[in-house]
Amino acid sequence: MNLNQSAPPVPPFGQPQPAYLGHHQSSYGGQPGSTTAPTSYGAYNGPVPGYQQTPPPGVSRAPPSSGAPPASTAQGPCGQTAYGQFGQGDVQNGPSSTVQMQRLPGYQPFGSAVLAPVVSQPAVLQPYGPPPTSAQVTAQLAGMQISGAVAPASPPSGLGYGPPTSLASASGSFPNSGLYGSYPQGQAPPLGQAQGHPGAQPPQRSVPPQASSFTPPASGGPRMPSMTGPLLPGQSFGGPPVSQPNHVSSPAPQVLPPGTQMTGPPGPPPPPMHSSQQPGYQLQQNGSYGPTRGPQSNYGSPYPGAAAFGSQPGPPQPLPPKRLDPDAIPSPIQVIEDDRNNRGSEPFVTGVRGQVPPLVTTNFLVKDQGNASPRYIRCTSYNIPCTSDMAKQAQVPLAAVIKPLARLPPEEASPYVVDHGESGPLRCNRCKAYMCPFMQFVEGGRRFQCCFCSCINDVPPQYFQHLDHTGKRVDAYDRPELSLGSYEFLATVDYCKNNKFPSPPAFIFMIDVSYNAIRSGLVRLLCEELKSLLDFLPREGGAEESAVRVGFVTYNKVLHFYNVKSSLAQPQMMVVSDVGDMFVPLLDGFLVNVNESQAVITSLLDQIPEMFADTRETETVFAPVIQAGMEALKAAECAGKLFLFHTSLPIAEAPGKLKNRDDRKLINTDKEKTLFQPQTGAYQTLAKECVAQGCCVDLFLFPNQYVDVATLSVVPQLTGGSVYKYACFQVENDQERFLSDLRRDVQKVVGFDAVMRVRTSTGIRAVDFFGAFYMSNTTDVELAGLDGDKTVTVEFKHDDRLNEESGALLQCALLYTSCAGQRRLRIHNLALNCCTQLADLYRNCETDTLINYMAKFAYRGVLNSPVKTVRDTLITQCAQILACYRKNCASPSSAGQLILPECMKLLPVYLNCVLKSDVLQPGAEVTTDDRAYVRQLVTSMDVAETNVFFYPRLLPLTKSPIENTTEPPAVRASDERLSNGDIYLLENGLNLFLWVGASVQQGVVQSLFGVSSFSQITSGLSVLPVLDNLLSKKVRGLIDSLRAQRSRYMKLIVVKQEDKLETLFKHFLVEDKSLSGGASYVDFLCHMHKEIRQLLS
Ligand SMILES: [Zn+2]
Repeated sequence: MNLNQSAPPVPPFGQPQPAYLGHHQSSYGGQPGSTTAPTSYGAYNGPVPGYQQTPPPGVSRAPPSSGAPPASTAQGPCGQTAYGQFGQGDVQNGPSSTVQMQRLPGYQPFGSAVLAPVVSQPAVLQPYGPPPTSAQVTAQLAGMQISGAVAPASPPSGLGYGPPTSLASASGSFPNSGLYGSYPQGQAPPLGQAQGHPGAQPPQRSVPPQASSFTPPASGGPRMPSMTGPLLPGQSFGGPPVSQPNHVSSPAPQVLPPGTQMTGPPGPPPPPMHSSQQPGYQLQQNGSYGPTRGPQSNYGSPYPGAAAFGSQPGPPQPLPPKRLDPDAIPSPIQVIEDDRNNRGSEPFVTGVRGQVPPLVTTNFLVKDQGNASPRYIRCTSYNIPCTSDMAKQAQVPLAAVIKPLARLPPEEASPYVVDHGESGPLRCNRCKAYMCPFMQFVEGGRRFQCCFCSCINDVPPQYFQHLDHTGKRVDAYDRPELSLGSYEFLATVDYCKNNKFPSPPAFIFMIDVSYNAIRSGLVRLLCEELKSLLDFLPREGGAEESAVRVGFVTYNKVLHFYNVKSSLAQPQMMVVSDVGDMFVPLLDGFLVNVNESQAVITSLLDQIPEMFADTRETETVFAPVIQAGMEALKAAECAGKLFLFHTSLPIAEAPGKLKNRDDRKLINTDKEKTLFQPQTGAYQTLAKECVAQGCCVDLFLFPNQYVDVATLSVVPQLTGGSVYKYACFQVENDQERFLSDLRRDVQKVVGFDAVMRVRTSTGIRAVDFFGAFYMSNTTDVELAGLDGDKTVTVEFKHDDRLNEESGALLQCALLYTSCAGQRRLRIHNLALNCCTQLADLYRNCETDTLINYMAKFAYRGVLNSPVKTVRDTLITQCAQILACYRKNCASPSSAGQLILPECMKLLPVYLNCVLKSDVLQPGAEVTTDDRAYVRQLVTSMDVAETNVFFYPRLLPLTKSPIENTTEPPAVRASDERLSNGDIYLLENGLNLFLWVGASVQQGVVQSLFGVSSFSQITSGLSVLPVLDNLLSKKVRGLIDSLRAQRSRYMKLIVVKQEDKLETLFKHFLVEDKSLSGGASYVDFLCHMHKEIRQLLS
């Protein structure tokens, strides 16, 4: 077998993958790497013992399904409703009923949320891989109103927990958010609002009509530790087996230490009648919880209106409503920390099907043993329902976020390149899937059965190999395509356009030289930078120089082409003023080799700023510029990339001319969607031509005012390009950011003229796609260019029943032209588990990926639907996901308790961040262009990027000892976490703030800013002075390291406490209520709980 040197996306990839000893992967990325000849592949060590594609026989993942929940409802003593969906409600609810019987009416706080312990219940027999990940988190939110809203009437006597009417009164009272105001009282938002959002229309709620019998004791039985705790030995729920795994062999539940979770304002001592309930809780404690002191503090804080709900004598307490303790609700920081601690030390080995990878926030190494690394593919769930009915019931989107050309850390080898010679890669005759580790060889190795479509194919003689006693080819571990999740094939000429091997790609730099571009200093800066940057064009393997050719165009209302042929003494300019009918005035000498033409290019770059220094031209064209670049690539018969540097709304008379149609009055109207839509179809047409030519467009914008990003970004978006935006660009303030982005963008590895296809095994298929690409049919994702930062998100739907034994398989095949002009196929395979129990789905979900998908879904939705509809759709879907869990998987408990699946306990907080993001709920300072810009950025973000983008990282800098060089542990993104004696860094992948508390020690101020007091610190500072002390070095080092982790340069902004800029900073404290009306985390959680209860009732 031949192995070619591959082109790993970033340097230094000189390390062979440990498991593939003897395989040399040449280094890359412009470094003169070793050119050692590839050695044989045979030394690969073989699989780890744990490798298996199917679950080990006999491991029972879950007890048999209970099927659809029966509708019976048993009325427990004291009006306690037992949850009939769990089968024999009376039996299973025995213990809890006992507890509830001992409650007395009247203590139920109404009118505010009740504190409760968050009980994290590590759970479950987990058949595969990692330690149990599923558990229930319960947060008791018995009273739903955060403020105000007191039920108008006393409850019927005897119920004790508030009348059913209180449900209605509870909903609709969500204050101040503006988000939820229009929900009809007591009703969930209408279902099926998703018109215009193909693929995510929530199907008819699957809660059976009988579900109304769930009606919980209104406003909830308060804290229900017994209901959410693990069963004690001997206890039996008798409920649906599906819920059992959550409770089998659970370790002792964790109860947060009292005092740490209850940091709310302490209330007065409990009134006597409250203490009379203690025995009930005492029993709980003796039962399974130990000292459950958390809930008790609830009783210490009476609520206005509490008297209305029981026989409590005496006047209502005048104290303000107590709010839910933020420490008692799931914390992103804690989840991230826990995952780092639990999963960061061991490599993630991909040999086991359906294994949920560590979180994107955890540093871990990957060993490819048959499935694609999570760096390439992440799924919303690694265990997908067998039937579409189950999938619809759960409402959990089944999606994969795929980053086909992801960059890998230096310790991991990039995919091996396999060369099957003239015969090309081996494929299934019927479905055209590529040879992969899941194909089954039969008949002594003479044939193979396709794992995707079951077709039996002949093995070509040159590929024949004997099978061992297990039916595995004896050479399986010598061949990447039989043993690895990811690898590449060299493509034959059959895979090339016009049956001709491609030429190396070209880069064309197209520079706006109108008045604004010249005046801001942009043109001079850019030309200066290009002189050196062109030496770092992407190259492949150990190549001495890049194969990429370059060309140059400048423009304002007209275009100037430059002949930079090496034989010329001086560059020649050719002007094309007929922008209506764009043509390329020269072929020879336009696209050149950088080294050969170095002198002419340098001369040109020296001259451009001078030539236009005195320009008065303010008008620009835009579409003709792209057209010209694309025509030039077409004439040169190559793919390539246009780098456009553009400053203004293209108002000059030309195709694609735009007008200023910005109108903030459209916000929150049905016409708001037009702000996100392009104002003319001309750019889509142009983009289509670009894609056909393999012409990718990267756009650098430098606007001083509205430029209509929504329209200008159409071509970059559809061609797999990137958009960068530097508003009010000034060289002194913004050059570092721009140059850093430019360098990275020019040097990054790109696959050109690419087509991606995702194949699936029978039962599911890819139905929807999100990202920066073009599609001319329903299956092929066409990418004029694809870089290592971009993802394509694919949603799957059932078209048949899946099978637990065989699981579900995905194969992503990307055909592309490398930066050296080599045609290649990159293959990623991933096997997922399938389940007949919903609990298995919820146990194997990945919330970060789910949020990535939901954000993209919503951000596309705003193109066609009112933003409010989009928000409501998200909320409804989230509520349905959680309600389905509650109904089918959680142990029965009072409706007053919010129960979240362990793997999804951050879904509410993260979803709330999406809901109040600038696209879906803009603040007054957010421009239309900002929104369009962010919208298209998020579309191709990977999971790590959306994670930090929606929930920024807030790092305290002065809390830990100054000698401590490790990254400080983050704190939650809330104002409450800021102490005015400290300094914090906040980053979200695009922005970086340094917040300085007003009482920071003088010594710290001196060390970091070189001034003697807080008042002397310049607000808005973007560079920290380089000072020779430990703190200064540490902070600057941390900033550098944060920047290095992100795909775009984050400009620093220093914000002083109580300063004007602080408003901007606080926008990113996403757990707090936002100025634009976005709900706080606590408020949103309460609202979500209400929605869930409505779905269940
Ligand atoms: Zn097939």
